Amino acid sequence: MKRGIVYLVGAGPGRPDLITLRGVELLKQADCVICDKLVSPALLNYVPAGAEIIHTPKRIGPGSFTQEQINKLIVEKALEGKKVVRLKGGDPCVFGRGGEEATVLAEAGIEFEIVPGVTAGIAAAEYAGIMITDRRYSSQVAFVTGQEASDKKQTNIDWHSLAKFNGTIVFYMGVGNLDFITDQLIKNGMNKETVATVVADATTPNQRIVQGSVVEISQKCCKENITAPAIVIIGQAAKSNSKLNWFMSQPLFGKTIVATRDKKGNAEFAAKIFTAGGNPLEFNTIRIEPLTASNEFLKALAEISKYDWVVFTSTNGAQVFFDAVHNLNGDARVFGFAKVAAIGRETAGKLFEFGVKADFVPSNFTSTELARQLAASVNLKDKKMLLLRSKIGMPEIVENLKKTGANVKDVPVYTTVTVQDDAKGLIEKLNIGRIDWLTFCSPSSVRGFFEQIPADVVKSSKVKIVSIGPVTSEQIAKLGIKVDLEAVEHTIDGVIDEMKRFYTRSL
Ligand code: SAH
Repeated sequence: MKRGIVYLVGAGPGRPDLITLRGVELLKQADCVICDKLVSPALLNYVPAGAEIIHTPKRIGPGSFTQEQINKLIVEKALEGKKVVRLKGGDPCVFGRGGEEATVLAEAGIEFEIVPGVTAGIAAAEYAGIMITDRRYSSQVAFVTGQEASDKKQTNIDWHSLAKFNGTIVFYMGVGNLDFITDQLIKNGMNKETVATVVADATTPNQRIVQGSVVEISQKCCKENITAPAIVIIGQAAKSNSKLNWFMSQPLFGKTIVATRDKKGNAEFAAKIFTAGGNPLEFNTIRIEPLTASNEFLKALAEISKYDWVVFTSTNGAQVFFDAVHNLNGDARVFGFAKVAAIGRETAGKLFEFGVKADFVPSNFTSTELARQLAASVNLKDKKMLLLRSKIGMPEIVENLKKTGANVKDVPVYTTVTVQDDAKGLIEKLNIGRIDWLTFCSPSSVRGFFEQIPADVVKSSKVKIVSIGPVTSEQIAKLGIKVDLEAVEHTIDGVIDEMKRFYTRSL
């Protein structure tokens, strides 16, 4: 029987996009993923549907695994002929027992590969603005475990040398044992004023830093309620320079921001919030329902090349249009000589994904502007225009385009229906002040949101509200709710920029 193979893959320190390309490639091909506790769940999105996913927390209690059980499991799965990814936090072999797992595999004659990962000690330092080999202070670095294996009779840690170590000491698994660690260092002669920095939940929106001298750091961490996972960095280099703390100084760092679009739109939005340092919360309000099976649309599609202009007003419109065209075995050539206009850079970007470069994109992303600017640059009199957009879009755009003398055909390509999400959970978070921002990107998502969340809950909470543009703001204002910010550029990026500006303005 064919033997499988095991990949010992480092998942990186927490933030899901800090895994290596090789790691992602292997996750995409895996038959079975055996996953450690500290691994970001977002990484499991790469795993193909149907692959087996096994979680192996090592805490005490039901569902927990001993290292021996994990070793046995990896071998068993490989012997079933599977491609097994053993996904471990940080680097698989830095205090990760990857060595023990590799040994078991080697002994069983099973092929394996080790994929290094960004280890927490290095990532935590860099995400706190600490350079562990700053040549002014530190020509050497020691990685030390703060918690030796419980079955070890004698310590392997040379406290005497560490106390005298002229460089940076990085402790893993040390925060629960910090009293003991600092005691040992001081007893063995370390200067009490030596700087220690503790970085908890490094690289995530919940990252926290506590700094102090070795005598006081343990108490400070207790006071601040710092818990694992955390890295303890000791030495001259541990003096973090706030100017270099790029991660936590991002304006949206640590802010909880709710995206309120459809599932796909929320995922895209959440990724952008995350990249900006924020903590995204996806709350689904609507579902996009294509109307591209209608006779009206199919007739328009059959004649599309006879139009002078085809106008798209949203990324959703472009997406459902091309889904329909592709289903009919067509592609971007369907437009023939018809020119294409897009409201907004994002709509134009979506069209470009399908091989269409929009001939016209107004600089200000509203329908009035589209009509005004298009009419200013070309003669639209008696021109045939096809408007492909949401069934529940604003009527003004048709009126505005008609005023230019064009002959406008308005064909709905999708509509939105409201959906239910975890309203109870969100209400609770709003009530206890856990949410910093609610973001709204269309009137229909405003409706979908407030069908689930009573307006009073929002009014009585401290949450701030940002809207993508005037039409959406108007919909919110109708409920008697104050819109704190409105994006200057009516795009998702514009919404994020607006929130960033809010914080940088108040500096
Ligand atoms: N193999 C891992 C380390 C496993 S030991 C690696 O290379 O990073 C587990 C310890 O790693 C934790 O107790 C903590 O000290 C550290 N750690 C892991 N993820 C961390 C994170 N996001 N922030 C701070 N410390 C982390």
